Amino acid sequence: MASIPTPEHVDPDCIFCKIVARELPAFVLDEDERTLAFMDINPASRGHALVMPRAHTQDLLTIGPEDLQAAVQSAQRLAARMTDRLRCDGVNLLNCCGAPAWQTVFHFHIHVIPRYKDDPARDPLRLPWIPAPGNMDDIKAVAEELNA
Ligand code: AMP
Ligand code: ZN
Repeated sequence: MASIPTPEHVDPDCIFCKIVARELPAFVLDEDERTLAFMDINPASRGHALVMPRAHTQDLLTIGPEDLQAAVQSAQRLAARMTDRLRCDGVNLLNCCGAPAWQTVFHFHIHVIPRYKDDPARDPLRLPWIPAPGNMDDIKAVAEELNA
């Protein structure tokens, strides 16, 4: 039986907490003790879903290791199910951490996005950047900053 978050794990203003509490509707795909997976209502591709911890936590920087592990495992289950049932050709996992990184709902979640080869009707997605070789001195300097 799935656990119900205790009051300190609920943000009364959070729409995803309301989905966990079933106060808002959702097309639920998977649930376990720690997580809930459901359809995204603004799908980037056919079958786009979200996985979140039941307990409210803002983002990647605040989620605890057990909830993060459970969410990643749920995302893996979903990716396998999408591959099996939707016959998708690939899957993207996406997490947005912070408004500048496109986060709009501040209850941690992982996007699980099925991808379809050469099928713009089901999958209009394109890479959001143009890959190009970086400047090695800049890359080295950033690595040094990260490692300092
Ligand atoms: P992000 O921008 O990474 O915070 O993603 C938030 C996602 O939640 C967006 O893709 C929205 O389409 C989705 N979303 C917002 N409200 C709902 C809802 N009530 N049910 C399902 N998905 C939602
Ligand atoms: Zn929440």
